[in-house]
Amino acid sequence: MIPLTDVSLQVLSTNQALDQALDSDIDSEPASWQRIVNESIRDISALLNALALPDQSHYSNFPILVPTPYLARIERGNLNDPLLKQVMSSAKELDDIPGYVEEPLQESTFAKTTGLIQKYHGRVLLIVTGSCAINCRYCFRRHFPYQKFQPTSQDWQRIIDELISDTSINEVILSGGDPLMMSDKRLKWIIQQLETVPHIDTVRIHSRLPVVIPQRITKTLIETLVESRLKAVLVTHINHPQELDEAVSNAMLALQRADVLLLNQSVLLKDINNDAEVLSTLSRKLFKANILPYYLHALDPVAGAAHFDVPDKEAEAIMSILRASLPGYLVPKLVREVPGQPSKSPL
Ligand code: SF4
Repeated sequence: MIPLTDVSLQVLSTNQALDQALDSDIDSEPASWQRIVNESIRDISALLNALALPDQSHYSNFPILVPTPYLARIERGNLNDPLLKQVMSSAKELDDIPGYVEEPLQESTFAKTTGLIQKYHGRVLLIVTGSCAINCRYCFRRHFPYQKFQPTSQDWQRIIDELISDTSINEVILSGGDPLMMSDKRLKWIIQQLETVPHIDTVRIHSRLPVVIPQRITKTLIETLVESRLKAVLVTHINHPQELDEAVSNAMLALQRADVLLLNQSVLLKDINNDAEVLSTLSRKLFKANILPYYLHALDPVAGAAHFDVPDKEAEAIMSILRASLPGYLVPKLVREVPGQPSKSPL
């Protein structure tokens, strides 16, 4: 058993505060972004109807979830809209394709304790919620057993003890689901707990929320990040330039002014962004919104998403055009995650 240090004792003494904070997590008045989440579209008929498209129905094992600010960026009447294709279920999702599995990244094998996953040196993933504000059809965690990984208030002491005992860890990546689905109160509590671990200096948040519901960037969230001693990094998840509108850009500007490093990762997706011109426009629009392109991910082979796959040769050809047409700082790294490798693998 790991001995309790001063820091550990300090955290232990706040466990009661945690229970209180988590118990009162649902504010009596939900924030505007929470109301938007509640009003999201949750079935295919409603989605198609809202976009003036003919109805079609099929079974899907991954529900539809589309918030209205994202819906507003989808072109009405266009079944091939690149944003619609990211959120509309397809009968192809039920095809059984060899090599496409429920847990393509084998993340369970890298769990240090409930909620804490370490895949790479120096940084750990903290699964803080299984909720999202949008259900992306290609999501590599679409079958993820969140109920097994999501920490309860009893697990927090173990998580903090794990972090204290490993001084090689200096960055905690909040993941999910979408970590910004947590209320501002809960997020602040978690950041405060991480601050008590002396060797942690960076908190990274991977989130699609600032893009799909830019109202999520609240004053309280900004204050929490500004007040923290941890350097904050936000990795947004934007796949297509049409996802970036003025409201998203304004949210990003607020974060940039709060000294948050803004990076973007995209997934390379067939018939959505497998086009050098689309990706070049995306890089330029990201830069205008103060975000640097970071990764372009090859699709993880998750069951139900094979129809989004782009062959490696095509991906490399797209990258050659990007390298020849953009300054180096606007060219994302084309990578694939291979379970067990010490870092993302360049293609
Ligand atoms: S927001 Fe992220 S975790 Fe949630 S469905 Fe989309 S890709 Fe998956």
